[in-house]
Amino acid sequence: MSVQTGASRPAAAPQPRPGITSLPGYSRSAAKATVRWIASSNESPVPPSPAVLEAIAAAGKGANRYPSLAGDELVATVAARLGLDPGQMLAGAGSLALLQLLLSTYAGPGDEVIYAWRSYEAYPILVGAAGAAAVEIPLDAAARHDLDAMAAAVTEATRAVIVCSPNNPTGTVVDRGELVGFLHRVPPHVLVVLDEAYREFTLPGDEGVGLLADFPNLAILRTFSKAYGLAGLRAGYLAASADIAANLRRAALPFPVSRVAVAAAVVAWAEPDRMAATVAQIVAERDYLAARLHDRGIRVPRSGGNFLWIPAGPRARELEAACLDQSVSVRAFDGEGVRVTLGGREATAAVLAAVDTVPGLAAAIQNPLPAPAGA
Ligand code: PMP
Repeated sequence: MSVQTGASRPAAAPQPRPGITSLPGYSRSAAKATVRWIASSNESPVPPSPAVLEAIAAAGKGANRYPSLAGDELVATVAARLGLDPGQMLAGAGSLALLQLLLSTYAGPGDEVIYAWRSYEAYPILVGAAGAAAVEIPLDAAARHDLDAMAAAVTEATRAVIVCSPNNPTGTVVDRGELVGFLHRVPPHVLVVLDEAYREFTLPGDEGVGLLADFPNLAILRTFSKAYGLAGLRAGYLAASADIAANLRRAALPFPVSRVAVAAAVVAWAEPDRMAATVAQIVAERDYLAARLHDRGIRVPRSGGNFLWIPAGPRARELEAACLDQSVSVRAFDGEGVRVTLGGREATAAVLAAVDTVPGLAAAIQNPLPAPAGA
């Protein structure tokens, strides 16, 4: 055993891998307990159905036993409806866990991962945690992915490109034609991760699952946290080629989804009408808020998610504070904008009341965008 002294003496505490201490943190929403309407985390405002609650209680009774090794029942249920082989799918504790697995399996030190920015705040954290370098490609003037610039940014070091559609926080959608064109431009050895956390809130034709047969480098992430309203239980799934799925299974933790989460997700999946009703209500509210903002001269990007992006620029924090004054928590990104998760009409009215207390907000809006449909 050697004892080092002086300059070469090792740090007094264990040190993480390079880059870990400089990772950005997740933003926290304003104290949820003190607000009346939570519009900050893109959750569903609708609690679980009676059948889901029953399944949760029943699964809890078996909590002394491990769940299935890989969320098998959930994988089989989802694969059957999507027309996929269960060997092409994985279940995870939220789609975020699956994104972490993808990135840490396919990228590491010396590698690059491309994504649009601004997009979901977990991307820089998970790319950095995998040890890879993030290559952030600015959204275009309409707050959409700049797919040309993203394709052009691919280098020999690129291992993965993340496409977030609908994009959190701007809500913009990469439609199927654009996605296909992009997939044709990305070399086949580069993984394309399509994050479809909000896909249920957008047009059915714009989903990616049908593309898996043609693009073996595509991996799709989806979740039970948004339209299915199970954010608190943590359940998501991944669909990809059998080859990608097999590699991920090699690196995955066993027992990734709890018995309770599997049981709840399987029952929620079996209630598509309930999910569709929730989605219809949220989409109607989204279009209503967009139109009322437009009435006030505030143009927002057309959203395919359960949220709207108000590009308030330098007034973002002011608008956030005004919303809190109206007892609504929203998500503000300094100098960029405010993301509002849709809930009921009362919450929408409170957001509009807040908007009306920020003088000159319309003038501060960045990148004026085309009017929303029906405005
Ligand atoms: N992707 C995007 C774009 C998201 O906005 C979120 C949640 N905010 C997630 C993934 C994570 O979802 P989950 O709860 O399935 O981990």
